[in-house]
Amino acid sequence: MTPRKTAVFGPAGNSDSYNAEKHKSNVEAPEWVKAKGLDAYEFQSGNGVRGSDEFFAAVGAAAAEAGILLSLHAPYYISLSGIDPEKRLGSLRYIRESLNAAALMGANIIVVHTGSAAKITREEAMDLARDTLTIALEEIPDNGVIIGLETMGKQNQLGTLDEVIELCKLSPRLAPVVDFGHINAYNVGNYFNNEDDYLRVFDKISAELGADAAMNLHCHFSKIEYTNKGEKKHLTFADTVFGPPFEPLARVIADERLTPCIICESDGTQAEDALAFKNIYKEHIKGD
Ligand SMILES: [Zn+2]
Repeated sequence: MTPRKTAVFGPAGNSDSYNAEKHKSNVEAPEWVKAKGLDAYEFQSGNGVRGSDEFFAAVGAAAAEAGILLSLHAPYYISLSGIDPEKRLGSLRYIRESLNAAALMGANIIVVHTGSAAKITREEAMDLARDTLTIALEEIPDNGVIIGLETMGKQNQLGTLDEVIELCKLSPRLAPVVDFGHINAYNVGNYFNNEDDYLRVFDKISAELGADAAMNLHCHFSKIEYTNKGEKKHLTFADTVFGPPFEPLARVIADERLTPCIICESDGTQAEDALAFKNIYKEHIKGD
């Protein structure tokens, strides 16, 4: 794969505006995303990997035709740190299914939630997650698709940036997925105020996992409402209360010549907001 020259932007799943057009099949999504002026699309399998091999291959063919970069969000019920062994090891099946679907689509990464830390200590949760991933890496053959581990937004979830980085050290098949809205919500807001706050994330990943991991980071960005326990719900870019702000992130990406994939998870306006991000980013690239 030739390295990307710029950051790329796209929606997580289908926006309200896409759904309002009553498309017959998700196979039509990549072309629609392209027509919007976007570059990437995160296929949603959060509620299960549903679809025939032919369907996933058709989505992949449509994305290749449109020049859209694909990723796949794996089922939410994957539980790397689950205390019920049956449920925890059941996660292996969903990871396998996600990797298979991603390979059929030509997606480069699946996005996995690291799990819960609600009833056990974070250390115990990390041990369980490490064990589940070790087994997954042993049992599931490498098909070229990266297993992305997402930073999470609720304080009773595993998945701070440090925890995700620690788990990613298990194998080059693992990579961090940085959800900036989640990190901000986990820390009860005001976590990303300026460029240095964002730069710190890329610097840490570069130092711990290598320059390439930071350069081509897969990211989620949306404004997210929080309580003192972290994430409450996803908002849209129009929010002015909860943050985090996109502007300083755009400046860091442009100034440092980083080439992340930024997936927007706004509530309903993810395509429009991804385009707003892209336009802000383009202004900074031009201004350099
Ligand atoms: Zn997620």
